[in-house]
Amino acid sequence: MSLLVVGSVAFDDITTPRGRAPRVLGGSGTYVGLAASFFTPVRVVGVVGEDFTAADEAVLTRRGIDVRGLEHAPGKCFCWACEYEENPNNRRTLRTELNVFEHFAPKVPPAYLDSEYLFLGNIAPALQCQVRDQLGARARLVGGDTMNFWITGSPKEVRQFLSRLHLLTINDQEAQLLTGEHNLHRAARAIIAMGPGAVVIKRGEHGATLYYATANGGSGTSYFGVPGYPLEDVFDPTGAGDAFAGGMLGYLAQQGGDAAPSEAVLRRAVVYGSVMGSFACERFGVERLTEITSADVEARYREFVALTRFEA
Ligand code: AMP
Repeated sequence: MSLLVVGSVAFDDITTPRGRAPRVLGGSGTYVGLAASFFTPVRVVGVVGEDFTAADEAVLTRRGIDVRGLEHAPGKCFCWACEYEENPNNRRTLRTELNVFEHFAPKVPPAYLDSEYLFLGNIAPALQCQVRDQLGARARLVGGDTMNFWITGSPKEVRQFLSRLHLLTINDQEAQLLTGEHNLHRAARAIIAMGPGAVVIKRGEHGATLYYATANGGSGTSYFGVPGYPLEDVFDPTGAGDAFAGGMLGYLAQQGGDAAPSEAVLRRAVVYGSVMGSFACERFGVERLTEITSADVEARYREFVALTRFEA
């Protein structure tokens, strides 16, 4: 079950209390794709500049990711700089340089048109909508992500994007910004009313909560929470949210469900998301996601099961 991922492919300049990585491969498409590749075949749509090398591409292809949808354009890759405080949930964006993204019009290659699973990673919401519309009715399950940069900069387009989604992953501060609700339960309900039947609110090291509209079509919402994996050393939280989304959508695609997966599958998907998000934090950039194996993923999944069990 192929998962088509659209997102940024970027060079990041990251400063954390542990040090600085001035130019590492990143981007939402990169993190989502790498994390999802542990579960299902991945195809990527995005744009890179002339500074994207064969070695950078090999980071994706070594994990079997299909890069035929990666357009090479004149100019430089998207570039993002951020700085984290001692509390890793607090980060400040220092620079966002769109570069090749500025004039990007995503095209889904004909070979990708049979993709049944789609994840619209964090890029301009108008571009996310363009990709969604190119896949048409074939897409059985569409997930997506966004961030403060777009919520404040393109609010109308973000609403259009939400109306096309089955599942949104978003962090707590962005959910509050999007809805104007401080209480996360109310924020989740407000997001579900904007379109997606399910939303995961990520809370960094504090875990994630899944909210989904109950199957009987009523106005009820169910929820499921997982703690964050107890990492003593959060090296670099960049990409944790995207790796979470990749793990979650990758697992959902592997299971082959449709727009309304069963509660059990959705819950396991949230745990696989948490597993992949925790790995992403263990080194700078995508490094850790390129060294782990499926056995590491399964072992951490079992740790999560043990961690959350409270009755024999
Ligand atoms: P996360 O830490 O999961 O929110 O994702 C961080 C990744 O998102 C970084 O690798 C950045 O390159 C990428 N990113 C940051 N801002 C944007 C943006 N405005 N549009 C697209 N990608 C972005």
